[in-house]
Amino acid sequence: MSEKLIIIGSGPSGLTAAIYAARANLNPLLFEGFSAGGIPGGQLMITTTIENFPGFKDGIGGQELMTNMREQALHFGTRIITEDVESVAFGERPFGVKSYGGDSLQACAVIISTGATAQRLPLDSEKKLFGRGISACAVCDGALPVFRNKPIAVIGGGDTAVEEALHLSKFGSRIFIIHRRDSLRASTIMQERALKHDKIEILWNKAVEEFVGDKMLSALKLKDTRTGETSVLEVSGAFEAIGHRPNTGFLGGQLRLNESGYIFTHPGTTQTSVEGIFAAGDVQDFRYRQAITAAGSGCMSALDAQKWLTERGFC
Ligand code: NAP
Repeated sequence: MSEKLIIIGSGPSGLTAAIYAARANLNPLLFEGFSAGGIPGGQLMITTTIENFPGFKDGIGGQELMTNMREQALHFGTRIITEDVESVAFGERPFGVKSYGGDSLQACAVIISTGATAQRLPLDSEKKLFGRGISACAVCDGALPVFRNKPIAVIGGGDTAVEEALHLSKFGSRIFIIHRRDSLRASTIMQERALKHDKIEILWNKAVEEFVGDKMLSALKLKDTRTGETSVLEVSGAFEAIGHRPNTGFLGGQLRLNESGYIFTHPGTTQTSVEGIFAAGDVQDFRYRQAITAAGSGCMSALDAQKWLTERGFC
């Protein structure tokens, strides 16, 4: 028998969609996978305190917020399967959804909310030393003994880079933000926090040419992006914070993507290029990428799906 609605992804967008869909008696089935960030719940699971999610004046921990959303979705009757989706068949009706765990399901409508994954520098030395002093998640790895009271680098100039540097300042002896330009992309408030922090130093116009180390990272070979001059910075840790890539691989090219690789949705809606397939959160949003906008578009996707299903009498 066909499901009314399958939701793929368990970040703020997927769980908000589930809460709305469950309350609308759509009996949603939600896949929460591991492949995107290694942990169900999306990127907020590896964030410390979220200070800008409305309703929490003292902030709320990322894991706590996601656990609450998950419990709220379950409370209204969402069924959750902890498996990654391997492939989809959007050319047939009902739509097909196949998981790595062997589930092969059909659905009248599908919401895709698989988020985005942290980017990594395309260097052989990065591949060799990743997990050996190189990480893409300060909250996950920053407190490890290998980084304690040691110099640490954060690569990138956005909010994530500054947030990671601030978090790492609790553990490292000195934190270097390595940025390829002469101004940060991070929001003004985050820039101010980095600039006035006595443990954080920003190395402007620098790109990482090589991660140096035998078994563990010991230094970075840097190149000045203006002069071409190279230098060596001794560090015990390097955290990559250079943006994200939308998780669309399992779609097999069946949905239109925009020029940046994010799922195309018709402006002002969550409707994708295939009727009955909706997309919400970071997988379709390359502009705002906030927990609150992800949750908002998750709500929109459930309302869009509900309307579409009602108009068609489901499948
Ligand atoms: P981002 O804003 O896209 O910034 C990525 C940074 O990495 C940029 O500074 C970029 O440099 C640099 N970069 C990209 N590719 C690079 C490469 N190959 N080599 C060296 N540097 C490279 O990504 P983000 O910081 O992850 O933030 C994503 C979104 O989440 C943003 O909207 C942000 O505001 C939001 N966010 C908010 C918070 C918060 O509110 N607390 C925390 C984290 C993230 P250029 O500047 O030169 O392009």
